[in-house]
Amino acid sequence: MSVVFSTEAACPVCGAKTFRYIEMLYDTPFFGNVLIQSGYCQTCGYRFFDIDYAEVGRPTRVIFTARDGVDVAKSFLIRSKTGTIYSPDLGFTLEPGSHGEPMITTVEGFLYKVIDYAERLKVLEPEGRERVDQFIQRVYRKIEEGGFTLVVEDPLGKSLVIPYREGTARVEYLDAIGQPQGST
Ligand SMILES: [Zn+2]
Repeated sequence: MSVVFSTEAACPVCGAKTFRYIEMLYDTPFFGNVLIQSGYCQTCGYRFFDIDYAEVGRPTRVIFTARDGVDVAKSFLIRSKTGTIYSPDLGFTLEPGSHGEPMITTVEGFLYKVIDYAERLKVLEPEGRERVDQFIQRVYRKIEEGGFTLVVEDPLGKSLVIPYREGTARVEYLDAIGQPQGST
């Protein structure tokens, strides 16, 4: 990953000159060049996030399998505000509406966020505490050991996983009703 452009500019929403804008380029064997644009205004909190790559605009499903802790620590997850992330093995789904903020993070960083959400859930629903604790323990273990699958679906094709090792992620292109149209 390299930063290709970075500036502090006038915010498109509030006009204050506190809008930090950054462009990053990932050169990936899997997706080709991926350009990420990200901005944040410290005055009004406005966030901008976009991603450009060859397949953008097509509904995608990325299936990533972490074989071990290295895959977890060194693979990147890019989630646009329309991306849904779920894991059948770990047993969670993050819909765009509920925790919809765009993010660029390692898979490890993402799983720590999931643990954060689960901790908050424990406060809101004390009666489910034991079940949530078991879930959290399982996620901690999977961060160390790998051995799980993460699925990222995005109707606009703007969410993806950039795997550390080739062969650990694949992409399916989906039509409007969610059927695979072929894969890379
Ligand atoms: Zn602003």
